Amino acid sequence: VSEADKFAVEYWQLEEDKLARRPKPKALAGKVALVTGGASGIGLATAQLFAEHGANVVVADLDAERCASVAADLGSTDVAVGVALDVTDPDAVQAGVDAAVLAFGGVDLVVNNAGITRAGSLADTSLEDWDLQFSIMTRGSFLVSKVVEPVLRAQRLGGDIINVCSKNAVFAGPNNVAYSSAKAAQAHMVRLLAAELGEIGVRVNGINPDGVVRGSGIFAGGWGASRAETYGVAEEDLGKYYAQRTVLKVEVLPEHIASAALALTNGTLPITTGLVVPVDSGVPQAFLR
Ligand code: NAD
Repeated sequence: VSEADKFAVEYWQLEEDKLARRPKPKALAGKVALVTGGASGIGLATAQLFAEHGANVVVADLDAERCASVAADLGSTDVAVGVALDVTDPDAVQAGVDAAVLAFGGVDLVVNNAGITRAGSLADTSLEDWDLQFSIMTRGSFLVSKVVEPVLRAQRLGGDIINVCSKNAVFAGPNNVAYSSAKAAQAHMVRLLAAELGEIGVRVNGINPDGVVRGSGIFAGGWGASRAETYGVAEEDLGKYYAQRTVLKVEVLPEHIASAALALTNGTLPITTGLVVPVDSGVPQAFLR
């Protein structure tokens, strides 16, 4: 290796080190983000990434202690606060949005991410399970958006609403009638609200994730075991199983969904609204069941 080549290698190493140490521009500085279901899985990763990018984050989830502890991990109360709320409860949602405004002076970004899953066939799905899933994911997204809308309108600063829906909003497989229908309604709401809120500069977009097993609470509570049984794999291999049936063969992580949410909110796609984007490593219809 010549001296000149050695110099070039060292030079570029130094340049790279310098770049790595340089503070990253904070894409969400000055923004206030409210993340429902923010204490676990995709919501937690989104809350973390948004805080890293300079947003003030309101971690909204069912359990007060979990919300507080996630918020404390993100930073002081100048950075993040936890707000316990059930997205199906109008008074709780109003109180949560009021608390966000009180803490940080407004709300700019909303991630409607709270969710559960109760898979089942038509015969197996009870009316209670149907109502529960619609009430959390569809009614919940509607309610949070409805309560935040006057705040966004009064601020006159635009804003973003992102619904975390699901691949199941688009693809049909057996034994998932209630969850998939709820997700399809939640995804269509993206287009409907985008058409309405454009007049106040609010963009409404959605994400359809699939196969986020590691770090997700919905897979831990029995759903993962039932999926593993259906596919004939060990539960701990489910993430890898999902990955190998995708086009890119990548195991989808909560952080991937969070990055998509960041891309949708930080002006990377500044005039995009009404878009529901798959973030799933590429799921061909033929692989689904
Ligand atoms: P998760 O269980 O880790 O997180 C969901 C969070 O929502 C939990 O903290 C839970 O307490 C909260 N929540 C549930 N009901 C609530 C309510 N009524 N009010 C407020 N909070 C409530 O699951 P996750 O995998 O991170 O899922 C997040 C979202 O992504 C859900 O809407 C889910 O349907 C969707 N999704 C997940 C996957 C996946 O593969 N994990 C795939 C597609 C879609």
